[in-house]
Amino acid sequence: ATEIRLAARPQGAPTLDDFSIVDTGVPAPGPGEILVRNLVLSVDPYMRGRMSDAKSYAAPYEVGKVMHGGALGEVVESAVDTFKPGDVVLHQLGWRTHAVLDAKAAVRVDPDAAPLNAYLGVLGMTGLTAYSGLFDVAAFKAGDTVFVSGAAGAVGSIVGQLAKVNGARRVIGSAGSAGKVRHLVDDLGFDAAFNYKDGPVADQLREAAPEGIDVYFDNVGGEHLEAAIDSLNLHGHIVVCGMISQYNATEPTPAPRNLGQVIAKRFTLRGMLVSDHFDLQPKFLAEVAPLVRDGSIKYSETVVDGIRNAPQAFLDLLGGANTGKMLVRL
Ligand code: NDP
Repeated sequence: ATEIRLAARPQGAPTLDDFSIVDTGVPAPGPGEILVRNLVLSVDPYMRGRMSDAKSYAAPYEVGKVMHGGALGEVVESAVDTFKPGDVVLHQLGWRTHAVLDAKAAVRVDPDAAPLNAYLGVLGMTGLTAYSGLFDVAAFKAGDTVFVSGAAGAVGSIVGQLAKVNGARRVIGSAGSAGKVRHLVDDLGFDAAFNYKDGPVADQLREAAPEGIDVYFDNVGGEHLEAAIDSLNLHGHIVVCGMISQYNATEPTPAPRNLGQVIAKRFTLRGMLVSDHFDLQPKFLAEVAPLVRDGSIKYSETVVDGIRNAPQAFLDLLGGANTGKMLVRL
């Protein structure tokens, strides 16, 4: 068995030296437990937060311990009646090839209902984040113009398409390369998209949304948030899902300098955590799984092979090498 441990807490941008790759024996399940051989690991931006010891919503990883994360695996040994070898389960003890877990912490998935990887992305945590953020938190309604940042990523790509399928007037995305911008418009049906590295976000957004935006789904923070406030229409909604542009910051980051516009525009800005919305899971799956099946919602994956490449996959995720969901296949 092999596992990825946190070797050191990064200062600023993480490097490969912050991780260690350790070979261990295969653990055995005790009473009430199952042994799972992991098949696919999820690579997620929130893991950057857990590498720091700053207080946050998820407990910090411990130095010298495994960096657990989302995973799909196959049960190989079971000490309970509810799971048998061969069952495929979703769980949170990833970033290792083999995991022993409390059977109650494993969720069975049906490998015939959808491609397995989808349970970590479009039909999993990132899909639910897009769905709950757009409909519940941002109160999206048909006719709205929607702007989403990180638009070619796992969450952002689904936000834009969900808005489009549900009657958005106009959907605009920003991403970090010309290829991603083309993908948003040509493959995912966005009405407009721009590369935020090409010039000031405020200018590019104003050009893409001359009549303003009603909803901003923020995955990035910083300059993007400030630009969205500038373009926001009266009574608009901002949902702050992530602020990836600031995750490596070592100094306090500047607030949006134009926050004062909240008064005249009476806009709403709300943070969200997907874990508050797990009750929406059945509704989300009932609505979104058929759209994925019939191709109305498309999803991409960037798949890296081998557990030893998981640290590099994580650095690449922060650097924008992924289109859609970043995964490690074991
Ligand atoms: P993505 O698939 O979007 O991958 C991260 C992307 O962020 C990269 O591909 C890169 O794309 C972009 N990025 C990196 N640095 C910057 C920067 N400085 N400025 C702008 N873009 C940058 O990841 P997810 O879809 O998993 O997550 C998206 C966001 O949602 C993250 O902020 C994450 O923390 C948040 N999140 C929040 C949840 C919640 O419950 N609140 C749950 C899940 C995710 P590019 O090439 O475009 O730069």
